[in-house]
Amino acid sequence: MPQSYPVNYLRHMMELQNLIGGEMTNPKGGAWLDNIEPATGHVFSRIPRSNAADVEAAVQAARTAFPAWSATPFEERAASLRRWGALIAEHSEALIAAESQDNGKPVSLAGAVDIPRAQKNLEFFAGAIEHFASEAHIPGGAEFIHYTHRKPIGVVGCISPWNLPLYLFTWKIAPALAAGNCVVAKPSEVTPVTAWMLSKWAAEAGFPAGVFNVVHGLGHEAGQALVEHPHVKAISFTGGTQTGAHIARTTAGIFKKLSLELGGKNPAIVFADCDVDKAVSTTIRSSFANQGQICLCSSRILIEDSLYDTFRDALVAKAKRIAPGDPSDPNTKMGALVSAPHRDKVLAYIESAKVQGASVLCGGDVASAPNDRCEAGYFVQPTILEGLGPACSINQEEIFGPVISLQRFSTEAEAIKLANDSDYGLAATIWTQDAAKAHRVATQVESGIAWINCWLVRDLRTPFGGVKSSGIGREGGFEALRFFTEPQSVCIPTH
Ligand code: NAD
Repeated sequence: MPQSYPVNYLRHMMELQNLIGGEMTNPKGGAWLDNIEPATGHVFSRIPRSNAADVEAAVQAARTAFPAWSATPFEERAASLRRWGALIAEHSEALIAAESQDNGKPVSLAGAVDIPRAQKNLEFFAGAIEHFASEAHIPGGAEFIHYTHRKPIGVVGCISPWNLPLYLFTWKIAPALAAGNCVVAKPSEVTPVTAWMLSKWAAEAGFPAGVFNVVHGLGHEAGQALVEHPHVKAISFTGGTQTGAHIARTTAGIFKKLSLELGGKNPAIVFADCDVDKAVSTTIRSSFANQGQICLCSSRILIEDSLYDTFRDALVAKAKRIAPGDPSDPNTKMGALVSAPHRDKVLAYIESAKVQGASVLCGGDVASAPNDRCEAGYFVQPTILEGLGPACSINQEEIFGPVISLQRFSTEAEAIKLANDSDYGLAATIWTQDAAKAHRVATQVESGIAWINCWLVRDLRTPFGGVKSSGIGREGGFEALRFFTEPQSVCIPTH
């Protein structure tokens, strides 16, 4: 371990534990996984390598807790979520440091986005459950009333990825708990620390033992056991498209309720009549924020012919000024990629782009270490490619790193065709000052989300999710509460 450690980073080797039935527990099989700090390549904690026996214990604890929790007044469930949110605020410095250390993201990003949003998720769904209502249908004559009774489902599984660890973890568990379900959650084995910290405060927030359980471990072991478990009635999953497809196949015959938030290959469509300065600076952010590891990041930049050279040159000039730095430094804007295998995958895509004839306008390689501490970290330069056709793998497959590819178009129809030339359909960004054109394009682009002249602006009440290979179902607002409840249609005569 390096001698000097940034303020608030974990200095001593930590051993994380599962939360099962209200107890922090070691893995039943006695096996552990190393957890590596991406900025240094050093092991800084160990996490339980849980197996089916741990998942079984967690599911049984959740089943036992379910009757009382589902009968708990929604005001009390909401109050527990709010107390948990307050605990996040109270411990925010420690959480920001842990998220940065675990993921490689800059503390500035974890402090501005990840941790405040995790708190907001808990508070938001506390409020959402207080306003959630179901429908009643009263036909003419009012001889019968039909109403929809929305019941909690039971034990639900929440499986989350590494890119926005606590942010996406809370985005799932909050609506699940608010709606009266008991949860078995499996955070990513790559970034488990903040979920573990949150789990330690569950009792203090007011969640009875067994209502909220966390099982750490590998996807194909702990995750698979959770997905297969017959008493887990729903799975809310965010992660890669291949994993999502595997989960869909696994659960097909047992009819589990599924929400799948998967990968993306998001287009940014830049028309010549856009506000160029704003489009350039936002596209830099949408391409390279979190080292390009946000499912909503732009990766295919489609630029109208007449603006192409100007836009490209401005984008490249700005990208060249971004130097990956030590994530613990408050001035760092770009940190380390999450792991060595992921860095290698991103570099392999860049090499393949070169072989396929791409011009590398900037970046294209590992970035030099910002300091001695980070000598063995996983840093990659922001990379801009051009000259590749729409069918090439760089423009079709999700790279999930700081790599974008530029393409030209000459008409609105061609822009839409290029944007839709993808198996994915998560988020599109459209840059134009012509409101009618913006609307026409937004509604023809095959994506769950379309941002016009902005990016990553979220209102938590709006539906969130993708089409095509980007997923099934929607999260956010009442959509999430609908997912985590089972509607029953009840009919009663009025006399
Ligand atoms: P991943 O699919 O490898 O893992 C996600 C989670 O699934 C992890 O907790 C993992 O342990 C678990 N898992 C893996 N195999 C499993 C199995 N067989 N059964 C059950 N669980 C299993 O994804 P990742 O690499 O952690 O995350 C990156 C991916 O997530 C990217 O593709 C990105 O686009 C996607 N993502 C999507 C969204 C969205 O909202 N659409 C948001 C963030 C990330």
